Amino acid sequence: MLRYLKSYFGYDSFRPLQQEIITHILAGHDCLALMPTGGGKSICFQLSALMIEGTALVVSPLISLMKDQVEALRANGIAAAALNSTHSEEDRREVGELLRRGKLKLLYVSPEKLMAEKDFLLKATKINLLVIDEAHCISQWGHDFRPEYTQLGALRAEMPDVPMAAFTATADKITRNDIVEQLCMRAMPSGEVKVFVSSFNRPNLSLDVRRGYSADEKLRVIVDLIRRHSLLAATDDDMVASSGIVYCLSRKTTDEVARKLRERGVDARPYHAGMSAQERNRVQDDFVNDRVPVVCATIAFGMGIDKSNVRFVVHYNLPKSIEGFYQEIGRGGRDGLPCETILFYNVGDLIALRSFADGSAQREINNEKLDRMQEYAESQVCRRRILLNYFSESMDYDCGNCDVCKHPPKRFDGTVLVQKALSAIVRTGERAGFRLVVDILRGNYSPTVREHDYDKLKTFGVGRDVPSRDWHDYLLQMLQLGLLEIDYRDDSHLKVTAQGRGVLFEGNKVWLAVVVREDLSVKGWKKRLAMERQLTLVGQHEDAVLFGKLRRLRLQIASSMGLAPYMVFSDKTLHAMATQRPVVISDFENVNGVGEHKLRLYGKVFVKLIREHQGLDVD
Ligand code: ADP
Ligand code: ZN
Repeated sequence: MLRYLKSYFGYDSFRPLQQEIITHILAGHDCLALMPTGGGKSICFQLSALMIEGTALVVSPLISLMKDQVEALRANGIAAAALNSTHSEEDRREVGELLRRGKLKLLYVSPEKLMAEKDFLLKATKINLLVIDEAHCISQWGHDFRPEYTQLGALRAEMPDVPMAAFTATADKITRNDIVEQLCMRAMPSGEVKVFVSSFNRPNLSLDVRRGYSADEKLRVIVDLIRRHSLLAATDDDMVASSGIVYCLSRKTTDEVARKLRERGVDARPYHAGMSAQERNRVQDDFVNDRVPVVCATIAFGMGIDKSNVRFVVHYNLPKSIEGFYQEIGRGGRDGLPCETILFYNVGDLIALRSFADGSAQREINNEKLDRMQEYAESQVCRRRILLNYFSESMDYDCGNCDVCKHPPKRFDGTVLVQKALSAIVRTGERAGFRLVVDILRGNYSPTVREHDYDKLKTFGVGRDVPSRDWHDYLLQMLQLGLLEIDYRDDSHLKVTAQGRGVLFEGNKVWLAVVVREDLSVKGWKKRLAMERQLTLVGQHEDAVLFGKLRRLRLQIASSMGLAPYMVFSDKTLHAMATQRPVVISDFENVNGVGEHKLRLYGKVFVKLIREHQGLDVD
């Protein structure tokens, strides 16, 4: 197994559970495997397919995903093809011919195509494995239901002896059981279908939540983030140094944020369902190929993108559920290097999402999911613990890589502040929303304030000494503490709870968390990231200039072959080269990520470049 792993994929060791899953499949059993995005699902079935005679069928929901995987496999010298609605009759015949001659190790198919072609496939092909990728699509409980998937259960009867392996990154229990049942998976002698659950922990993703930022402040943080990351790898300016995704709730916001970033010199593009398929494909393609550094997208973006060097993922608005959130941030840092994630959270999002949930068909489920998301955003304990706990995985230590761990909240006696706010709310007859309350406290003569003569209230301007954004934060904390609530049925006006009245009228004490807005300086970050990078490359120094040259060579090769750069070598592999600096082929072969096929294809040119760089003779 290890030999196959090294020679086809260039890796020296398995990630957690990969070897167990492959062994299980090779023994002819069925299984469901839950692995986080980027956890290395594909290698489980790809390597299994290579190790047994015949062809593996891989059911996949997305055409772009198939295309990507097939290209990546071919780049590793593995015979693979895809069959879906974009293929012509001629393509189909060609694939049919390859199958008949036993020339394909893996065939990716859409569920529709598989059902339509199954008689042919069963007859013409020796099918050795049936893989259901993104298996949660079969379940209405999952977040990505695809009706076409529900027909797949019929396949078990048609191929009773072929091992079936289903993979997903969505883990809640109901979905899990649903997948196993609907696919009619075969149980082990113990009576249970084997389910592998790999850890959902991705320690290289930092977690960070920012409460109550205004649009301008969010933008500043994002620009800073971009600057930090392009500084980091800017050994040459003509290339995109690293990339990032900004997820927004609405199409309009994606357009706006992208425009504002462009105004600040960042080549950012919007991506949303309102654009034509062609435009969307172009954006995605440019992003994957490192031609566009930042995409501002609605959640329609990213499924199936296997891009290794995404260095930050920002949620401009609060996501609808933890599953979605986790999947989205999971698109960052797939090469194992640090990736920053920031979630912006303010009360406007909460109100908008509540009203979506209330108006949706699955009202209760959606509200419940939003509750959990809100709990995460408001948490005062290690955020990673909450996430993992959500995926039924316990973690008994704090992660050290989330904002709560890095800046444990300091508290102060906020009783007077809280009383001011609650008093303002009561004096409006509890007829004010979030923004209006802040206006009253700050003494802003806004149109609504004038219209209702709120400037005559005794509390008008009593909170002038506290900046608006801090008021926003304190109000969110008060919400979280249960001192006030938002009445969604009454125009989202704020109401004081019984507990709030205890503070206002009986003087009960309240401790608030100090608001921290420490947007770390560029300098500090550069140092820290450099340190982190060194930690991942134990004990050796990376040659940054060489890294730049290696990237340039990679880009040349990728363009000439029509491949995405990461399919030639990932960033991680280039970093390893720039660190180990192999000057002979036999050393080059030992770099993690260099397999036999790629060694043959690219070994010489890369070693030549490294020799040149080291001032050695290139013959
Ligand atoms: P997903 O679980 O999201 O399908 P992939 O299979 O695409 O994840 O794997 C994510 C990345 O990790 C890929 O770039 C892949 O080549 C890499 N990878 C997978 N297994 C290993 C391994 N054993 N060692 C090193 N890198 C690996
Ligand atoms: Zn933590």
